[in-house]
Amino acid sequence: MDFELTEEQQMIRKMVRDFAEKEIRPIAREMDASGEFPWEVIRKMGSLGLMGLPIPEEYGGSGADTTTYAIAVEEISRVCGSVGITLAAHTSLGIYPIYRFGSEEQKRKYLPSLASGEGLAAFGLTEPEAGSDAAGIKTTAALDGDQWVINGQKTFITSGSIADVVIIAAVTPVPALSQDDRTGASQAQADKSAHRRAISNFIVEKGTPGFRPGRDEDKMGLRGSVTSQLFFEDCRVPKENLLGQMGEGFKQFLITLDDGRISIGAMAVGLAQGAFEAAVKYSKERVQFGQPIASFQAIQWMIADVATEIEAARLLVYRAAWLKDQGVRFTKEAAMAKLYASEAAERACYKAIQIHGGYGYVKEYDVERIYRDNRLTAIGEGTSEIQRLVIARQVLKEL
Ligand SMILES: Cc1cc2nc3c(=O)[nH]c(=O)nc-3n(C[C@H](O)[C@H](O)[C@H](O)COP(=O)(O)OP(=O)(O)OC[C@H]3O[C@@H](n4cnc5c(N)ncnc54)[C@H](O)[C@@H]3O)c2cc1C
Repeated sequence: MDFELTEEQQMIRKMVRDFAEKEIRPIAREMDASGEFPWEVIRKMGSLGLMGLPIPEEYGGSGADTTTYAIAVEEISRVCGSVGITLAAHTSLGIYPIYRFGSEEQKRKYLPSLASGEGLAAFGLTEPEAGSDAAGIKTTAALDGDQWVINGQKTFITSGSIADVVIIAAVTPVPALSQDDRTGASQAQADKSAHRRAISNFIVEKGTPGFRPGRDEDKMGLRGSVTSQLFFEDCRVPKENLLGQMGEGFKQFLITLDDGRISIGAMAVGLAQGAFEAAVKYSKERVQFGQPIASFQAIQWMIADVATEIEAARLLVYRAAWLKDQGVRFTKEAAMAKLYASEAAERACYKAIQIHGGYGYVKEYDVERIYRDNRLTAIGEGTSEIQRLVIARQVLKEL
């Protein structure tokens, strides 16, 4: 067991931290207030190789391991959650499925521009009536000659309206039931299994006729990121835009979400770290009863608890990332990392505001923004309730 980061990982952490301090911190508060998307920052991150970190160099990425990628998401989120989620969704949800499941031709066509940050990618799974129950999606794709015709609606898609490429999940014609589906399973189970086997993922390019973005959501936090509705009305994409095999979409998005959960966990660790550092600094400066509030035991206990929980969350995130790089299954560990990190970050932000007193409640201090930004980490890519379900299912299987 080795808890030491490699030299390269330490170097990337320093590089990303310096970048975030210099290029993002000065505009983070304004971005939150205006809701303006930070295109210039994203382009600069692209030129530093941050928009395709875990993608091999032959496809235009940086060829880094998953821990390095998690460190980058953490360091960006330490300064700004909006840029953090944009990076995480682009990499884990937008690019990764193309790299993992795409044909050689699709990888060559899409990855170089996306991994270099010239273009943004998004992942459209959620629909108005299918959130946690993602297999309940209603968007359809039907083959007509050499094109897929897509109809339906997506909601809450990170970077959806500004992405150059969106991976979307849709229901395709149901393959015939196998013997397994017909025997030993109830009709309801067989129907569910057949529906899952009918889901496929597609690559849709911006500007494809019949594909149009709807409104961008007015959110409580992560206001410098874009979260959009997407509409598909007889949207025709070439037959070759099917990702992997027909009927593999459900399996593909479960694998994609495992990866994504590492990045949301990393985002939560970064947000918690940002709030924590602000709170410690403030506790040393703020004087009450003739002494810095850091000298009060009540404040020290909050600092001790938060420091411990951030460290535990970070270790869970890095371990899930490490497991992924070992090529072993990491579903449970990614769910644990996301669950614990997002809830630990909630407690960290709460205490950071508490340490700031009334000043923590006003926009002049960053902890107010971080608190709002972090709220998403317990919801996106599977709520905390769904993470508990995933973890319990695995544990019950194992023991
Ligand atoms: C800012 C933001 C960015 C997002 N980005 C993306 C994106 O890029 N791509 C994408 O596809 N989606 C995205 N989402 C959607 C996100 O993944 C969903 O919001 C999330 O999965 C929850 O779905 P829902 O909102 O429909 O809530 P629901 O599924 O309706 O859940 C409501 C409540 O019921 C609980 N619940 C539901 N089912 C169960 C159960 N079986 N057991 C116990 N409790 C349950 C939930 O935990 C929750 O508390 C984003 C959402 C937000 C807010």
